[in-house]
Amino acid sequence: MARLAQTAGLTDIQEEILATVRTFVDKEIIPHAQTLEHGDTYPADIVEGMKEMGLFGLTIPEEYGGLGESLLTYALVVEQIARGWMSVSGVINTHFIVAHMLKQHGTPEQKQKYLPRMAAGEVRGSFSMSEPELGSDVAAIRTRAVRGDSGYAISGQKMWLTNGGTSNLTAVLVKTDEGAEKPHQNLTTFLVEKPEGYGEVLPGLTIPGKIDKMGYKGVDTTEMVFDGFEIAEDQILGGVSGQGFRHMMDGVEVGRVNVAARACGIAIRAFELAIEYSQQRRTFGKAIAEHQAIAFKLAEMATKVEAAHLMMVNAARLKDSGQRNDVEAGMAKLIASEYCAEVTQESFRIHGGYGYSKEYEIERLMREAPFLLIGEGTSEIQKTIISRGLLRDYQSRG
Ligand SMILES: Cc1cc2nc3c(=O)[nH]c(=O)nc-3n(C[C@H](O)[C@H](O)[C@H](O)COP(=O)(O)OP(=O)(O)OC[C@H]3O[C@@H](n4cnc5c(N)ncnc54)[C@H](O)[C@@H]3O)c2cc1C
Repeated sequence: MARLAQTAGLTDIQEEILATVRTFVDKEIIPHAQTLEHGDTYPADIVEGMKEMGLFGLTIPEEYGGLGESLLTYALVVEQIARGWMSVSGVINTHFIVAHMLKQHGTPEQKQKYLPRMAAGEVRGSFSMSEPELGSDVAAIRTRAVRGDSGYAISGQKMWLTNGGTSNLTAVLVKTDEGAEKPHQNLTTFLVEKPEGYGEVLPGLTIPGKIDKMGYKGVDTTEMVFDGFEIAEDQILGGVSGQGFRHMMDGVEVGRVNVAARACGIAIRAFELAIEYSQQRRTFGKAIAEHQAIAFKLAEMATKVEAAHLMMVNAARLKDSGQRNDVEAGMAKLIASEYCAEVTQESFRIHGGYGYSKEYEIERLMREAPFLLIGEGTSEIQKTIISRGLLRDYQSRG
């Protein structure tokens, strides 16, 4: 992008990584995205290319074989990838969240066991909080792990597991009986190792087939059914039960910056398509971009792209500096996903009837944008987080 969504103050290494990813997106993702998406085909070759570039280890510390890059670098990479095809960013997103949780909360043995293989892309992460009857209300989780003589047995059903069939390490949040008064203090994250694939992949663990979705195709989203699945105590993230809610929320917080980045990527692409099309398409003797109504749409779309990008970058930088960013990440996710839906809609309108044709990229973006209003917490949940944070910081002195 020539002018929009630029980021001041990047290091030479960050610039280099972004230039490499941008070229990869233009050459290897954009030309294939439509066909793969319409066929609901997993982008295996693209994933191999990302492995070769080291993207699976982008934020994993160098001592574990990763590139040790910041959340900001990751977010800017995700923005570029989503500009090409959101599903590809979905492949690395859950992996990145699990790597973050291990890096921040894993025991030394867990870090040693998983992070080097995660950096190489051999171990691929997914995370599971949602269940058929809950998504926003995480503390209401019902899937339960019961302690026995030689570990735990997990029973219950999980829902909406992105990369459920194509990952081999899932961080699963379940209920354990800690005897705590507050429900969220009775939750524990287990690191479930499993083979890739569908069906009963291990005794007591089934991954039914892919959920047929409106968009976000190519990447698999599944259920996960536990029926007395046995797991050792040392697979508890951080080694101590009852800490799972805190660990997952930390993961979701970086996930929110990442969803904001995805929304920015889609909005940038929707704008690019609109400004190109509006200079080609002619009505009433001139390019439609010369009608003020269309030109003003372009101006508003570009302003939204810019605002969302700046808030996303701000939230990432805050987290990188070690400061709490719950409010800023919530704001970035809220505005980027809402603006993405609006910019995509406007681009669709600018395409006229052709926007409704599957031959045009905007048709796909129109089906992808709504997911960002839901994933990693809906807009209503973001407003809850933001308002709680504000009331905490602006307490009345009256
Ligand atoms: C394609 C896809 C992939 C996903 N991938 C994953 C994944 O990898 N891992 C995972 O754990 N989950 C995943 N999810 C689940 C996702 O996080 C949830 O769908 C999301 O958190 C919303 O939960 P819900 O669907 O249960 O909606 P609900 O929580 O039932 O909410 C329904 C509606 O009520 C509103 N609402 C709920 N509570 C309140 C409140 N207190 N105040 C005001 N409004 C409220 C919501 O905003 C929403 O509009 C995925 C979902 C989709 C669609």
